[in-house]
Amino acid sequence: MPRKATPIGRGLGKTIGWTHRNSLARRDVKMLNAVQYLKFDDAGLHISMNGQPQTLEVDTIIVRAGQMPLHSLYDELSDGSMPVHLIGGAHEAAELDAKRAIKQASYLAAEI
Ligand SMILES: Cc1cc2nc3c(=O)[nH]c(=O)nc-3n(C[C@H](O)[C@H](O)[C@H](O)COP(=O)(O)OP(=O)(O)OC[C@H]3O[C@@H](n4cnc5c(N)ncnc54)[C@H](O)[C@@H]3O)c2cc1C
Repeated sequence: MPRKATPIGRGLGKTIGWTHRNSLARRDVKMLNAVQYLKFDDAGLHISMNGQPQTLEVDTIIVRAGQMPLHSLYDELSDGSMPVHLIGGAHEAAELDAKRAIKQASYLAAEI
């Protein structure tokens, strides 16, 4: 249940997106987008979709809250005493993009 209104998994690579969507659909997983979370209580999870409130009877809620880059080592070493570079997941942790990290590392290695 992402809050985004765009099709679920749109940001994933073509093959990864297709595989995951298929595997979830085979297991009868319902995928809802453009969801607003209102609250949860004994009745379940209260959401709103396109302005329509509804309650889902659930016993478990898994929150996928995203990720933040961790660059404390970069910060620590950035006192000017040596050249340091910030790339990959430490630079930008949004979405799942190992390709970007590999590209940044390859270009930086070539440059160095
Ligand atoms: C659950 C999950 C699923 C993912 N799935 C996908 C996917 O399907 N497709 C995709 O493209 N991307 C995916 N990603 C994103 C991908 O893993 C990252 O974009 C990529 O690993 C970033 O590469 P990196 O080399 O910058 O960092 P990392 O792969 O995180 O490597 C950093 C390394 O540095 C080490 N390290 C950290 N601090 C120190 C320190 N102080 N001293 C020494 N070593 C240290 C860490 O132990 C680690 O080995 C996923 C990420 C997660 C969390």
